Amino acid sequence: MKDENCIFCKLANGEIPTATLYEDEDFRVILDANPASKGHALILPKEHYANLYELDDELASKSLVLAKKMITKLTPILGCDGYNIVQNNGEAAGQTVFHFHMHLIPRSKGDSVGLGWKMSALKDEDKEDILSKI
Ligand code: 5GP
Ligand code: ZN
Repeated sequence: MKDENCIFCKLANGEIPTATLYEDEDFRVILDANPASKGHALILPKEHYANLYELDDELASKSLVLAKKMITKLTPILGCDGYNIVQNNGEAAGQTVFHFHMHLIPRSKGDSVGLGWKMSALKDEDKEDILSKI
């Protein structure tokens, strides 16, 4: 299904032209309009799913295989040293466009891409709480 109010549905299906790195029957891979680094790309399914919670299982599997294929091809082309694969679900997690997408972010040693979090120590009470409920 497509969502007529969704910009990523329009980009993924070619209704709005965009810089496309790859396309098949399920996905389009495009350059992000606001790249964290040169080559920052987005994997977009052509069908509308708001996030990973909603994504079809087969497309979920295919999207990671495609991420692997894309970074394997792009790493020597861009001359980067590694990649972050980032996938945000929900506003609290930084999602701003509510059509599932995976970010492919090229990384170079010493770059200034600001991905990260402050690490803490795992608390026994948190560990016990989670393990007792899972
Ligand atoms: P999110 O924060 O939802 O994980 O990421 C949304 C991403 O989509 C951002 O990195 C943003 O730059 C990118 N983006 C938003 N609108 C457009 C657009 O119209 N074209 C392209 N190419 N990227 C977009
Ligand atoms: Zn959409």
